[in-house]
Amino acid sequence: MKVEILKPCAYCAGVNNAINIALKARQEHHDKDVYVLGMLVHNNFVVRSLQKQNILSASNINDIPDGSVIIFSAHGHKEELDEVAKKKNLIVYDSVCPKVLSNIKLIKENLQKGHEIIYIGQQGHPEAEACLSLSEKVILFHKNILKNYQSISDDSPLVINQTTLNILDIKDIHEQILKVFPNARIANEICASTRLRQEAIKNIEKDVDLIIVVGDVNSSNTRRLLEIAQQCHPNIQSIMISDASELDKASTANKNHIVISSGASTPMEIIDEVFNKINY
Ligand code: SF4
Repeated sequence: MKVEILKPCAYCAGVNNAINIALKARQEHHDKDVYVLGMLVHNNFVVRSLQKQNILSASNINDIPDGSVIIFSAHGHKEELDEVAKKKNLIVYDSVCPKVLSNIKLIKENLQKGHEIIYIGQQGHPEAEACLSLSEKVILFHKNILKNYQSISDDSPLVINQTTLNILDIKDIHEQILKVFPNARIANEICASTRLRQEAIKNIEKDVDLIIVVGDVNSSNTRRLLEIAQQCHPNIQSIMISDASELDKASTANKNHIVISSGASTPMEIIDEVFNKINY
């Protein structure tokens, strides 16, 4: 049996950066409570290992004691939270991924020029919430629905998206939008880490008979990997697990070629455990 780990694998640069910032905050303020607002990155293993280092989690900024350290997540945060952090005298560390930040900058530049923005993303995802919080002129396109469609008066709105979307679906969405707004300016902002992982699944060898996606159920880019596997290879079995404990030995029995893909916030350690469980 051949077992292959698809590349890229393990943490992307943005996740690495966020973890390093959290550790730096802990190191620089050993006398203070340090909280991450929400999940630093969408992986429970990472959240638990930060908690072991006394980096706590809070789901609401108001639950964080005044004067503590707050770390904003890699996905970005709603703009109004900066003001709340100031009022609470919190020491702020922002672990936003540079790619998410560059999208936020592009949206702001366009808003300043008077443009409206069509934002393709998942309602409730922190990255989408961060972008939507910038202005009511940022309109969400979600699940094939463009809300407040009639409210867009800009002939050439900017069309931009969450960084972790599906590379196949986004082409259709752009076509739908261009039918209504032929002069819309499309910025395809799926990040390289997400795109390369999806392309690796799309281009697997013909003899593969099992695709295993390893990652957290909360991780958007991991769920997209499973979607791509099912869309591109409907005749190949594909499963998603968060770690080796969820791997049923029966599902790998009698297989000839297994590929393991992983989300951008999946630690290498977990991928190795899955690989070893299949092989032994
Ligand atoms: S998946 Fe992409 S956008 Fe998200 S943290 Fe990684 S590099 Fe940044």
